[in-house]
Amino acid sequence: MAAPTDFLNYIDSNKDSFIDRLAKAVEIPGVSGDPARREDVFRMGDFLDAELKKYGVETKRVDIGTHTMEGEQLKLPPLVLGRIGNDSSKKTLLIYGHFDVQPAFKSDGWKYEPFKLTREDETGKLYGRGSTDDKGPIMGWVNVLEAHSKLQKPLPVNIRFCFEGMEESGSEGLDEFILEEVKKQDSWFKGVDAVCISDNYWLNTRTPCLTYGLRGIAYYKLNISGPGADLHSGVFGRMVHEPMTDLVLLMSKLVDQNGKILVPGVDEMVAPADAEEQAIYERLDYSIEDVETSAGAAIALSDNKAEVLMGRMRSPSLSLHGIEGAFYGVGAKTVIPAKVGGKFSIRLVPPQTPDNITPLVEKYLNAEFKKLGSKNKMNVEYLHGGKPWVEDHKHWSYEAARRATETIYKQTPDYTREGGSIPVTLTFAEALGVNVLLLPMGRGDDGAHSTNEKLDISNYIEGTKLLGTYLYEVEAGTKA
Ligand SMILES: [Zn+2]
Repeated sequence: MAAPTDFLNYIDSNKDSFIDRLAKAVEIPGVSGDPARREDVFRMGDFLDAELKKYGVETKRVDIGTHTMEGEQLKLPPLVLGRIGNDSSKKTLLIYGHFDVQPAFKSDGWKYEPFKLTREDETGKLYGRGSTDDKGPIMGWVNVLEAHSKLQKPLPVNIRFCFEGMEESGSEGLDEFILEEVKKQDSWFKGVDAVCISDNYWLNTRTPCLTYGLRGIAYYKLNISGPGADLHSGVFGRMVHEPMTDLVLLMSKLVDQNGKILVPGVDEMVAPADAEEQAIYERLDYSIEDVETSAGAAIALSDNKAEVLMGRMRSPSLSLHGIEGAFYGVGAKTVIPAKVGGKFSIRLVPPQTPDNITPLVEKYLNAEFKKLGSKNKMNVEYLHGGKPWVEDHKHWSYEAARRATETIYKQTPDYTREGGSIPVTLTFAEALGVNVLLLPMGRGDDGAHSTNEKLDISNYIEGTKLLGTYLYEVEAGTKA
């Protein structure tokens, strides 16, 4: 059963006010990784809480304590939980999303102010930090609630919401909460039959997809220190071991220019794809142009589509992210930094986990550092991580999402595995023991975490219809 026409019409007729809702959300710069923005993350949680309440959701804010960031003790943003519907004849879905965002500065290369939603009618795009990651999807759910409330229609399923404000900073406090909560008699997750998360993207700009796998991650900081304070190269150059030199030498030994991971044992842990698996990637609606369009340059690692896709979906990858403590401003400062920290991470696929990868990384870097014969000090810090995840994509929840996609987009979705990590996916799957569906709203070129992040108006509006239709398809597909 497709969603009722009055619901779909309501979404179409309220397009502008739904865009206004997203604009209000984007204007709150809740960057979880910036201590100076912590209050804004709280404000964003308040905003979401109020929106949910408006449409009949019973909510609860959960204090998950404090943490230390950049030497500062900070309160963690509360989880915003919600529940609506308690009909035992209906399925109960748990919806997860996050209301924090990545940092963004106009000077990074944004064409508009990042914390103001800019509507480009000629391209049909909405630009702004968080537009697609993850405020668009969570406002999509609020839009679905609004439609049902205004039309006085009961929802076809019971819904539980779990929204967090620390996703972009390792979801601190969330796993602990979920693992404790499921043990309780009157748990907020009691009776949940399946989980739905909208926090990833289509593979391309044309074909909707359902995602049944995610890579895990292990994030590291390689610290090197030597001098007691920053030194001047005119005074100390070629007299002392320089931390930055050691660091750059070591970082150059982690990965090669073709993406091959040089840490022994990491690539080797994953068996190569057989012909059958290879065929899955050949079939996906994707081209080298797609990757190059979304990357903004012709820089694909190979001309072979399946190879490029497998690089992201079923292979580990190692990326170098940055160097803390290094001179990076304009000008030509002659400093020798006293202490530098190289940040890098490895995306993981089964059977890799942070636990079996970290010893390989430590052993290799210690050995390579020893070879340098430097008198500086080196240590490898594991910052955060999560295991990879693969789900049963024949489950009724996936079938409902497939039918909903066919109804709204008139296309059968691609079935994809994603290169990124959403560690909570695995936590929900393991703690609740239910199926988890990743149902993306945005396109592959949305630029989440990047400059000029956007969400197409059509993805926001059709995506809102998709979320609502999915609920009706769950009802239709599970009726006895
Ligand atoms: Zn996200």
